[in-house]
Amino acid sequence: MRDAAIMAADLLGWYDRHARDLPWRVAPEAGRAGQRADPYAVWLSEVMLQQTTVAAVKSYFTRFLELWPDVGALAAADDAQVMGEWAGLGYYARARNLLKCARVVAGAHDGAFPDTAEGLRALPGIGPYTAAAIAAIAFDRPEAVVDGNVERVMARLFRVETPLPTAKPELRDRAAEMTPRARPGDYAQAVMDLGATICTPKRPACGICPWQADCRARAAGVAADLPARAAKKPKPVRHGVAFVGRRSDGAWLLERRPDGGLLGGMLGWPGGGWDDTHAPVPPAEADWRDPGAEVRHTFTHFHLRLALRVAELPADCRPERGDFVVGLRPSDLPTVMRKAFDMARSTLDLA
Ligand code: SF4
Repeated sequence: MRDAAIMAADLLGWYDRHARDLPWRVAPEAGRAGQRADPYAVWLSEVMLQQTTVAAVKSYFTRFLELWPDVGALAAADDAQVMGEWAGLGYYARARNLLKCARVVAGAHDGAFPDTAEGLRALPGIGPYTAAAIAAIAFDRPEAVVDGNVERVMARLFRVETPLPTAKPELRDRAAEMTPRARPGDYAQAVMDLGATICTPKRPACGICPWQADCRARAAGVAADLPARAAKKPKPVRHGVAFVGRRSDGAWLLERRPDGGLLGGMLGWPGGGWDDTHAPVPPAEADWRDPGAEVRHTFTHFHLRLALRVAELPADCRPERGDFVVGLRPSDLPTVMRKAFDMARSTLDLA
């Protein structure tokens, strides 16, 4: 294998020609002309990209920047509006931390993000990976930025056969060894692009890879088999109930979920705790019907089966839980709650 600095220079040359066009990115030629990445945009994109694909994030990122073009604007935003705009992106603790972080940066830091990984890590919602990514991309710090793409590239380049997640520290060390002092921000994005477009999970296109002459997995003919992964435990199945109620004036009975838990701070249908230990109590007295329909949704750690109960509620309904929402936008609901809404409407033909 060649010297790391020479390999990094080759990869940067490839990146200059083939960088993906992403709305939060400063293109390499613009970077060379002196344009700097906006730390706010880098931070916003990195938080959105945690556990979420580039394709899913693009439209949310553009919408957030239109509504809140800088960190001060986001810090002053209405919480419910931000949670509503985040709906559908998942992992809702990120949205709550996004607001907390914006308010710390706008307040304690006078609107300027810290320019080191260490300083960034002290902010709400910013872990080691996100801190390294922002420090590298926004401030050109030589931080090793290791996401799933980079792990895959390193596992193949160095033919690391230890399965993930055990191999993580070794892959991080390899990524750090490879990180150059010159253009580290572009380099971080270049390795990610290599993993996303050439060194792909199933069929790596080694024939057009700038590191093909150096790659140990390619030489051994095992590229597509790496990285190895420990067998996954099957996810448990949990059950719950969603009470979808509509008042005669068209308002829907919803509740805001408690901040700390799953889907915290988001709007949702009243129901049980999804833990099989509490019988679900209806949020209001009504003729709740069981349409025999079940919403299925998968979270990171479990599959959820949500039984529906549907009712038309009288105009003078006084719910014990939740509030009526007039003019509900289904897009304000997290995905699982939107599935319940769609199913209730189609099952009972509610308009
Ligand atoms: S040669 Fe193939 S396996 Fe190795 S880094 Fe390039 S694309 Fe990945």
